Amino acid sequence: MPAANPLPLDALQIRDGIRGRRFRCEEVIAAVIDQIDRINPALHALIEVFREPALERAREVDRQIAAGRDPGPLAGVPFTAKGNICTREGTSSAASKILKGYRAPYPATVVDRLQRAGAILVGKTNMDEFGMGSSTENSALGPTRNPWRTTHVPGGSSGGAAAAAAAVGGMFHLGSDTGGSIRQPSAYCGVTGIKPTYGRVSRYGLLAFASSLDQIGPIAQSARECALALQHMAGRDPMDSTSMDLPVPDYLAEIGKGVEGLSLGIPKEYFPPAIEPEIRDRVFAAIDAFKRLGVKVKEVSLPHTPLANPTYVLISAAEASSNLARYDGIHYGYRAPKASSLFDLYSRSRGEGFGPEVKRRIMVGTFVLSSGYYDAFYLKAMKVRRLIRRDFEEAFRQVDAVICPTSPVPAFPIGARIDDPMKLYAVDILTVSANLASVPGISFPCGFTSDGLPVGAQIYGRPFEDDRVLRFAHSYQSVTDHHRNRPPVRGEV
Ligand code: GLN
Repeated sequence: MPAANPLPLDALQIRDGIRGRRFRCEEVIAAVIDQIDRINPALHALIEVFREPALERAREVDRQIAAGRDPGPLAGVPFTAKGNICTREGTSSAASKILKGYRAPYPATVVDRLQRAGAILVGKTNMDEFGMGSSTENSALGPTRNPWRTTHVPGGSSGGAAAAAAAVGGMFHLGSDTGGSIRQPSAYCGVTGIKPTYGRVSRYGLLAFASSLDQIGPIAQSARECALALQHMAGRDPMDSTSMDLPVPDYLAEIGKGVEGLSLGIPKEYFPPAIEPEIRDRVFAAIDAFKRLGVKVKEVSLPHTPLANPTYVLISAAEASSNLARYDGIHYGYRAPKASSLFDLYSRSRGEGFGPEVKRRIMVGTFVLSSGYYDAFYLKAMKVRRLIRRDFEEAFRQVDAVICPTSPVPAFPIGARIDDPMKLYAVDILTVSANLASVPGISFPCGFTSDGLPVGAQIYGRPFEDDRVLRFAHSYQSVTDHHRNRPPVRGEV
């Protein structure tokens, strides 16, 4: 049968097309990698591409199908992993000089599960070093560019994954989210990304940033592709004691149930004056679409929201300073060539290996954990975290989920905020609460600014109701086309 170009299809259609022998898996993987090669010089979304190993896996899938064997539920579906997710293929450096060339001894559980289900890893994506940043400018390998406007950032820290999701298609991308790093870049690149509930997905094999906040999740063009990926990522992993032993719902079945009769809260604290008016307008237009779908909408309050960002900055830095202590020039990665003593070796290896933002976080973290300041900063932040969590528990007694913008601003020019950390941290004010409260959050495209940059809306749900946040986004995408827009850099495929 003559092969249609598979790239305009989504990951489910790719899966079904390979199974139904409408095209060969090898053709799909070759087309995806050709497209990556076309867009990557302009975007720098991927930092490694595994052409030959991926094509070899694809031929294996084709052989299994030809022999009438079951190649697995995700057979032939291409995916990428963020640079901080360990893979057998290539290196796992978290885009840091300190882990340059590091080859992981084992793959992350999520990667292993996806590969066992037949999905094919085609590359690793760029990111802010160790996940610290909101623009992918903190990568030791150089920045990623926004596919909608290459002078602008793609968001971060999973900026490579979101840019690739917008510019390639037919696949999904694993990101990680500690304070918004799946959702904010998804918003800036006009794609869909979900941070699952803490404990829903194993973190084993994720290079840790802040262990009580980190979670791996998928980024793709649509909620249904995210549902497909999550299906094969979620669930208890004996290698991660924080992964929960709860049944994994049938996400694809759940998202098709519609949202009529469900309720959405509008948290007034998530629409502060700092939100650009156009972003507010697009999100309210999305709220109107939900009303037309039969969703009941009411205002709710999450009163501790203004404290979320400082709380996040303190807790994430404290945990990072502890997690990153292992990079000492001896156990892993980069070792300074000249050192006169053990202390000198530590200090030179870390001094030369870490970038400026990572050093800033380590200094803040060790400071807030130090004996004289522990109570004043870290302990207080832990108490406020509890209050933020209670806000959500109270809101979710009144409504099934809440809706708000993902970011107060759209993508900004490369260089515009990087010299002022406070300005960069300010773009995270609407995403960090999901991590502090351990609730699931999804970002999905809801239009453009008049200037042509994507706008993202965000839905938070109750813990372990990941299926429901996906269901809201999928229902919206069933009656709107924003997720079908493709950036110019993608070209005619
Ligand atoms: N932008 C936030 C930070 O810089 C969140 C990063 C993340 O989620 N990994 O810490």
